Amino acid sequence: MDYGCVIYGSARQSVLKKLDPIHHSALRLCSGAFRTSPVESLYVECCEPSLDYRRTMLAIHFYLKILSHPGHPFHTHKQSQLILRLQRARPSVIPSFFTRVSKFLNSFNLDSVQVVPTIKYHLTPWNSHGLNFLNPFKTFDKANTAPEIYQQLFADHREVYQNFTPIFTDGSKCSSCTSFACVFINSTLSFQLHPSCSIFTAEITAILHALSQISSGPPDNYIIYSDSLSALESMTSLNRFSHPLTINILELHDRLSTKGFTILFCWIPSHVGISGNELADNLARSATNSFNSPVPVNDVKKYVKSILRSKWQAQWDLKNTNKLQSIKRLIDCWPSLPIRKLDTVLTRLRIGHTRFTHRHLLLGEPAPLCTACQCQMTVLHILIECPRFDLQRIRCFHSSCMTLGDILHKDHHPQLFTFLRTIGFYSLI
Ligand SMILES: [Zn+2]
Repeated sequence: MDYGCVIYGSARQSVLKKLDPIHHSALRLCSGAFRTSPVESLYVECCEPSLDYRRTMLAIHFYLKILSHPGHPFHTHKQSQLILRLQRARPSVIPSFFTRVSKFLNSFNLDSVQVVPTIKYHLTPWNSHGLNFLNPFKTFDKANTAPEIYQQLFADHREVYQNFTPIFTDGSKCSSCTSFACVFINSTLSFQLHPSCSIFTAEITAILHALSQISSGPPDNYIIYSDSLSALESMTSLNRFSHPLTINILELHDRLSTKGFTILFCWIPSHVGISGNELADNLARSATNSFNSPVPVNDVKKYVKSILRSKWQAQWDLKNTNKLQSIKRLIDCWPSLPIRKLDTVLTRLRIGHTRFTHRHLLLGEPAPLCTACQCQMTVLHILIECPRFDLQRIRCFHSSCMTLGDILHKDHHPQLFTFLRTIGFYSLI
């Protein structure tokens, strides 16, 4: 259903809706959910978003592909004024791909985003494929080492490398912004990046920026300090899947080396009182100037995914009356059980729709009643409320006062199936 949806996604909503029942039956078959299960519960139980959500995401992915490939035939495409005028004058006209995508981008605050172009990087045998970094703190465990020890080790390290001018770099990410900072001997700089940038991109951008700053000066010895082990490690061995900015760092480093620069990289622990690192950290957090640099495609994809996920979560939060909502508030992939029958039973109990409690809807019969309590049979009533099963509840769960969440949560209660068999409900689910 994903295949070609970038193209067929332009069809009218009423036509696209015809695909939904097929998607829902597939989800029902995979999860074993009962036929009357609400679709919102199906989506959340399977952790599979609706087709509409998938189409939005894939349309943006395709647009990003066009944007990042300079050789793509639509790379420099501009919407024709004639089509734009037609679409504005007649809103019933099916919008073109670019009009649809620009609406999505606008709602995600991504209209002005520029992406890093995908350039095939050829690893040549005469160039280095990685940069090693120093780690004078390798043998120390951060949890068990006092900040003073780290400061002393750093002072010791600086004595050895006193001929190298130090530069400190740091990246920072909070919920609404991403930023980075570089601290040189006599100056500092800090910038905000596009909010879709990852913390990794911020750390790498900081290192790249430090290199490009020193490239304008005369050749000298420099040492760049970063507290991001993952950023430094990514530079040690490049391959064609490497972060695009890591490749830029390597290229710039090679260029500077041939000019006579000697540049070393070193990892330092964060928040242990190393003054340059502390300053870089504070500057990155308080950066206000924005630096309009292109964003790696994978960062934008992750950003779009996270926005779509939070929109889905917000919709789910509103479903207060949904039975699954009381058990699974946060949308997440829960592991399935290795035995199909048990997995089906667990799915049906979580969704709250079982053959016993909901078959009457399909047959047009009255709902089954509990003969003891004279109320409608529900999963909640059978598992938790009905006093007839108190004895079995105490025997299996060692308590007669529980919630559905206690029994059916991500790691279901180990005695759940024993209890279901004891009360005779298992075969009716
Ligand atoms: Zn009862």
